[in-house]
Amino acid sequence: MSKTKISFHGAAGEVTGSRHLLETPAGSLLLDCGMFQGHRNDAQKKNRSFAFPPASVDAVLLSHAHIDHCGLLPSLYRDGCDGPLYATAGTAEIAGIMLADSARLQVGDARFYNKIHAAEKLTIEPLYDEEDAKKALAHLKPTAYNTAFAPLPGVEARFLNAGHVMGSAMCQLDLDTEGGRRRLLYTGDLGRQEGLLMESPVAPEGVDYLVVESTYGGRLHEKLADAGEKLAEVIRRAVATRAKVIIPSFALERTQEIVFILDRLFREKAAPEIPVYVDSPMAVSLTEIFSKFRDDFSFDDKFQAYARMDGDPFGFDYIRYLRTKEESQALNNKKGPMLIISASGMCEGGRVLHHLRNNISGPENIVLLVGYQAQGTLGRRLQDGQKLVKIFGMEHEVAASIETMHVFSSHADNNDIVSFVKACAPRRGVFLVHGEPEARAALTEALGREGIKNVKSPAPGEEFELN
Ligand SMILES: [Zn+2]
Repeated sequence: MSKTKISFHGAAGEVTGSRHLLETPAGSLLLDCGMFQGHRNDAQKKNRSFAFPPASVDAVLLSHAHIDHCGLLPSLYRDGCDGPLYATAGTAEIAGIMLADSARLQVGDARFYNKIHAAEKLTIEPLYDEEDAKKALAHLKPTAYNTAFAPLPGVEARFLNAGHVMGSAMCQLDLDTEGGRRRLLYTGDLGRQEGLLMESPVAPEGVDYLVVESTYGGRLHEKLADAGEKLAEVIRRAVATRAKVIIPSFALERTQEIVFILDRLFREKAAPEIPVYVDSPMAVSLTEIFSKFRDDFSFDDKFQAYARMDGDPFGFDYIRYLRTKEESQALNNKKGPMLIISASGMCEGGRVLHHLRNNISGPENIVLLVGYQAQGTLGRRLQDGQKLVKIFGMEHEVAASIETMHVFSSHADNNDIVSFVKACAPRRGVFLVHGEPEARAALTEALGREGIKNVKSPAPGEEFELN
């Protein structure tokens, strides 16, 4: 019998580009096919090729639809993979939106690069285009949670709720190894124990090998319960100064979380009602998917109960969902107070840049950062207190007040991960993925204190035998 192995080709010592390859006697399974996100040269290198022949992949399991987990599926299928692509129904729908958007970005980005480097005759090809994305999506097999399926002969798989974003799943795989039947659990990205919209993940029994994310190893989140009061306070100030409040937000999950909190605040009359604009076509489409899947069991019970009572947890009197450019531009001429929720979350692109350009020099205005701001992004420069920032190549004085809410995160923190791993009690080993070196080191130590010793931090390309 040939050996059963797992190897890690991305998100090994970093947080993006998740691609984990499981090779069994019956064939090869790829767990996620994510895009590496980072500086252009690095990203080009890591996203242009695969460490394994795409044609050798017999099936793909997709944990959720974030680009760092699904973003290279179009390349994989264009370059030779022809196997089924398993995902939950929610992930399948969201992946359609995310990959079409990613393809448009790739094409636009290449066009822009080639234009500004025309004199040096430097050109790049887009990673893929919308046709490639469509081809990959044609392989999707939407699969229910907690239902067995066989991605390979002799391999029994199940998607379990991961509690990270809508549709997110852990992949549980029962497979034969030289040592006997083994259960491997890949968490994908793991949600928090205290969630807002999603049900918290529950550890399954009988796990032999655990591949677990480690983004927040060594770090703890603030309590979500304080989010409503902080938002209410910002709204009260906005009313007093007729401010425009710009909230740069990820289109998936964060936007819906903010809107849900606002819905509750206004229903409970805990804040004065002011106009709220969700200005991002992608966020609008995604919110529709949230509404469609509202009774899906991966949503939190409390959220579902609220949704039934309220009727529409993402809708209230003064909210408008904007799709067209004209609607977006019309906001420039409207007077505050108002909230504008717009992508991208780190102010790297999208319509939020127009709203920042138009409002950031007004001392009455507020920019409210509600997500992680990576080094090198405009969001981070604002968070760091820079007084002059460049937007579309023009300098703007930052007179608006810049505030950050640290409570939001869709990832388990250090304590959440530790208690999840303890509950799993993996018998044969733990692999830490999706974490920077410091996070993995801190988590390894924390797990060690709980008596969990067989913890590995795989290097890129490193391979382990499962037995
Ligand atoms: Zn994710």
